[in-house]
Amino acid sequence: MVERIFNDPLAWGILGIFGVLAFALSLIFKDDFDTDTSMGGALLRGLEGLVLSALGALLARSLISFLLGWANDSEVAGFVVGWGFFLIPGIVDTIVYIIQFLTGAHGHPLLSTPQNLLMYATAVGGMSGMVSGLWRIYRWDGLGWIAFPLDVTWALAGNTVGCLLHFVNFLGFRLSRLLGDGTWGMHASEIRKNAHRYEKKSFGLKPDYAFTQGAVMSNLKDGPRDDLYRHEKTHVWQNRCFGPMYTLTYVGWMAAWIIPSFFAATIKIGFTNIFRGAQDWCYFNNPWETWAYNVQGCPERTNIEGVTEDDKKLIWPPKWVIAWSIPFFLAATALAVLVVNSVWVDSGMNAVATQAHAGAQKPKSQPQSKPHGAPPPAKHH
Ligand SMILES: [Zn+2]
Repeated sequence: MVERIFNDPLAWGILGIFGVLAFALSLIFKDDFDTDTSMGGALLRGLEGLVLSALGALLARSLISFLLGWANDSEVAGFVVGWGFFLIPGIVDTIVYIIQFLTGAHGHPLLSTPQNLLMYATAVGGMSGMVSGLWRIYRWDGLGWIAFPLDVTWALAGNTVGCLLHFVNFLGFRLSRLLGDGTWGMHASEIRKNAHRYEKKSFGLKPDYAFTQGAVMSNLKDGPRDDLYRHEKTHVWQNRCFGPMYTLTYVGWMAAWIIPSFFAATIKIGFTNIFRGAQDWCYFNNPWETWAYNVQGCPERTNIEGVTEDDKKLIWPPKWVIAWSIPFFLAATALAVLVVNSVWVDSGMNAVATQAHAGAQKPKSQPQSKPHGAPPPAKHH
């Protein structure tokens, strides 16, 4: 469990690349970060990127190695970790399992193997740390000390998608500099706010909406202290505080309401508007959104730009959202307890029982402990 955090040459290779990248990017694009364009500033920025990338990868690998090892690297633990801490491998492997089930093939994970999961941890922890160091987002005389370790452990799922946002916005920005007006995908220049902000326009699901994943707020024009900024920043901290429960219940709420929303929309605003209904019930009525809109100063969510009279018929008042949240989150918590119990608590006890059993059966002449990782004695043929 502990050795494998350090003994993977590929992981060291990835870390080496991030280390070199941290300094290469900080020096090559010296004038494109915040207001400090001095050489000393660039070197310090590179150093912060290097240190946070190494720490981020180490923390992420430690957590994932521990979670998998505690469950004896079982396939189901890999599957749950794939969903809860990286999201994408969970989604992909669910599809893979369904196809394998339908075709009668023997079920095997495609992405959520222990080796792969440790590699994702290195990549996401390392990249998230590096980019955050380069942009100096963490406030080291404040909540940065809590925000950074949470971002590369408990809050990894959101930050996995956050890393993709960095990637797309970075590429878009360089392309926009080369071919366009150089403004698409531009990172905001404010520092030490414990979150990234990409200006509008940058990647978003809808042109007029900001899009936040992990510590990365994208397509957000408004700066700190603005209402929409506070909305998006709320999502950043929801992810840090609730980790996999935030990501999975956000997605779970959408999955639970999408079909009912089609019926509701058909009845209230007509069959041709069913996707508007899905937006209202899955997005505006989502408790995590209602919370963020409350912070933004519009808990009713009906006076937002783009919300139509049709939407108003389907957006619930806050008390309805709260009422539906109670059974929803009770069910989600019960499911989480069930999964954690069967994957980790039971298998942990089984492992202890197996070890105790094996220990009791060992002949007394055999040494009771071996160095970890020692090979079994060679067989003589
Ligand atoms: Zn939101």
